[in-house]
Amino acid sequence: MTSSTLGVFGGSFDPVHLGHLHSMWELQLHLSLDTIHFIPCAQSPLKQQSLASAEHRIAMLKLAIRGQPKWQVDDREIQRQGASYTIDTLKSLKQDFPQHNLCLIFSMDVAVDLPKWHKWEELFDYANIIILSRPEFLLPEASWVQDLKKRTLANSSELRTKKSGGVWWQTTTALNISATEIRNLCKKQQPPPYLLQHDVWQYIQQHKIYTE
Ligand code: ATP
Repeated sequence: MTSSTLGVFGGSFDPVHLGHLHSMWELQLHLSLDTIHFIPCAQSPLKQQSLASAEHRIAMLKLAIRGQPKWQVDDREIQRQGASYTIDTLKSLKQDFPQHNLCLIFSMDVAVDLPKWHKWEELFDYANIIILSRPEFLLPEASWVQDLKKRTLANSSELRTKKSGGVWWQTTTALNISATEIRNLCKKQQPPPYLLQHDVWQYIQQHKIYTE
């Protein structure tokens, strides 16, 4: 039986930039996911507190994905508050979308820290995982990586037939952009016009985000 696929793309999005948007666009081209939820965290368990408020991060995301009918901003982690554990987010999505196959999406730079995630082994009970491969990030020779590799799906069409537990490695073009770099440029009064979606760049300037 085939099911609709729901991509789960979480992050600080402080701010959302073209690296995020381009990789999701390419992913959509390759895998035709039915929908992708961009989920800004309230508090990342592994990172410092976001600089921009949740309201600003949501507003920037909404501007960035406007016009993409299959993408939506999902504020469940902001509403839940506290540490944003992905396992809780998957459980909540499973309740709201019981017929969908959840596809948790993250890049290699995030994958290297997977064993530090709260209850990370349980993630496979709720979702398939799509890892955006980036040549500059190699995973260590560790037993948990072997476990991940053993879960590799033979074909991406299995994301529609297998409810959870599989891993799909997707190569996307790596744009060397980070939110940290953007925040640093803003602090130097140089908000970078070509690393961000234009409306997001204007929003940052208008609200003087990251300049302090
Ligand atoms: P920061 O610099 O603040 O750590 P970031 O730019 O890495 O932020 P996040 O919002 O923390 O952005 O990332 C959310 C997701 O987007 C993660 O899975 C991350 O790996 C991925 N990601 C970040 N930058 C890129 C990029 N340039 N290309 C593709 N994916 C990216």
